[in-house]
Amino acid sequence: MTASDIARETIKQMAIRRVEPTPDHYMEIYHEISGLPAQDSGASTIRKTLKQLPHDTSTKLNWINRWDKKLKDQPQQGLVELLSDAMEQSATHSELWPKTIRILLQGWDERRSGLDSQKKRALMERVLINFGQDPLLPEKLVSMANQWLSTASNTVELRDDVDMASTIETSTTEATMTTLIANQAIDPLQLSSMQGDAEAGLSQHIAQPHVQQALSVLQTILKQTLHLGLIPRLHGYPTLQKEANTLLAGAERSKKLKEWEALAKDLKALLLKVEMIGANEDDVRADVIDLLHLLLSNVGELVTEDAWLSGQVYAVQTMISGPLDRQKLKAAEKSLKEVIYKQGLLKHSLNEAKHSFKSMVGTFIDRLKYMGEASDQYGNNIETYAQQLAETDDLMKINQLVEQLMRETSSMQADIVRSRDALLAEQAQAQLTQQRIDSLQEELMQVSELVRVDQLTGVLNRRGMDEAFAAEIARFHRQGEPLSVALLDIDNFKLLNDHHGHVVGDDALKHLTAVVRRTVRPTDIVTRLGGEEFVILLPNTPLQAAVSLMTRLQRELTKAYFLGNNEKLLITFSAGVALFKEADDMTTILQRADRAMYHAKKLGKNRVVTETDLPL
Ligand code: GH3
Ligand code: MG
Ligand code: MG
Repeated sequence: MTASDIARETIKQMAIRRVEPTPDHYMEIYHEISGLPAQDSGASTIRKTLKQLPHDTSTKLNWINRWDKKLKDQPQQGLVELLSDAMEQSATHSELWPKTIRILLQGWDERRSGLDSQKKRALMERVLINFGQDPLLPEKLVSMANQWLSTASNTVELRDDVDMASTIETSTTEATMTTLIANQAIDPLQLSSMQGDAEAGLSQHIAQPHVQQALSVLQTILKQTLHLGLIPRLHGYPTLQKEANTLLAGAERSKKLKEWEALAKDLKALLLKVEMIGANEDDVRADVIDLLHLLLSNVGELVTEDAWLSGQVYAVQTMISGPLDRQKLKAAEKSLKEVIYKQGLLKHSLNEAKHSFKSMVGTFIDRLKYMGEASDQYGNNIETYAQQLAETDDLMKINQLVEQLMRETSSMQADIVRSRDALLAEQAQAQLTQQRIDSLQEELMQVSELVRVDQLTGVLNRRGMDEAFAAEIARFHRQGEPLSVALLDIDNFKLLNDHHGHVVGDDALKHLTAVVRRTVRPTDIVTRLGGEEFVILLPNTPLQAAVSLMTRLQRELTKAYFLGNNEKLLITFSAGVALFKEADDMTTILQRADRAMYHAKKLGKNRVVTETDLPL
């Protein structure tokens, strides 16, 4: 068989076996047919050499393994590829550094990254420490510079054939970590995005100094959070506090990834328990507030006589209806203290008044007795003188008698004047005390919330309503929760007054407010706009819910009939409901609610109409 015969047969076999027409396959079949041993193409020698090359990094090892496999599978083709790759490498390598330096300079000049040159220098030193001996150095430098440029989104590729995934991976992990360390600050978002990276990359990166440094920042933050944030708040929960302290000690110690993982697990368990006691405390607080509400409404019922006291009760009730804040609590405490002080003064003055009235009456009785005795004596004397006068004609004697009479009369007069003066002085003293009592009572009224409360019904008056609106409008703008306003007007109230008298009319107003107050929620604010018109502020209530509430109120009123002059009387009302809008103020929303209420009257009374039901 000549060499050309073998060649022809080889090509035929390649076609029959349907193998790819590569030089390697040709060689293989050629040798098979010729029976000659396969000539070494040099691939095996190179494979041996590959194994002697330094393979201290994973990159190098991967490179060696890749070419070893290639040369084993396709010796001929592998050699060609290896050589062309080497050629290209050397060509690109010659461009690598100039290109790297150019990108680095661009990054250095980029001001929009928010890093100054000092921070950039620190970052670069870190990269040099970590990769100074590594062929990856130019790539790392470029990915760092790209991070500086990334705000302007003008990142530059170092090489066309760089593995994109690995560039992105290294640049983000690296840059996040290094920026983090440079700024010495971590925000929670960054932290959570880092968690994923850290979990995936930590095992391979943990030994690297910059990761260690990032971990130490996290460690400090965790320790501070435990020490200053959590532990002091667990006062009253000794077991949990102990657990938190153990965790703190653990955070101090943890160096290895395993230790960190264990720590995270414990932290999660502790936080779960803390969350549970938080929920429990919320429940307790709600129960205490309910109890307080109950207590206050009972006290409120008992003290309807002492208007200023019921004002105070109302103030505390209003306060605990809304969300509690310390400022409000402090304000309420201050006003209560003022009331207690004024009450003390009042009690003192009342005692004083009692005392001075008593002494005045005592003096009066004394004087009366004395004057009585004196006037008896005087009367007797006058009688004696009159007798003596009748019996004598002696002028000398008469003169003597007159002189005696005159003396006695003037002493009697002096006594009367003295008595009168004493009584006047006592009276003046008593009046003074009374004045002080009056003014103290007036002051008590002022410090109590009474001035904001309608005297007849106990709900907020116009002034109270103004304040409530101001507060609710501010809350609306702050929190954006729907605020509905209902305006209600009693139907045919004039008729009721005319038929049953004003006292029954007053009682009807009190009855209505009592029903309203027990029907609405504690957070709703009931106010008397005037006469037989009421405004109810319904925070955190959409329009439809407000309508439902007013309809329920109508039902409640029909159930709870009202006794006037021993007659069962049915009170009904017409209501208009409006929803507070961004551009509204108190006047505009009341106008809309009033229009809706007026429409309800026109439709036949005893109904609820919303602003959206209004004809255009
Ligand atoms: P409508 O159904 O259209 O509302 O008719 P109305 O009679 O209820 O309305 P109107 O406005 O004509 O009459 C309201 C009456 O309410 C007039 C006034 O005498 C009475 N009123 C206002 N304030 C008080 C109050 O404090 N006590 C009493 N008893 N009556 C009051
Ligand atoms: Mg009216
Ligand atoms: Mg009316």
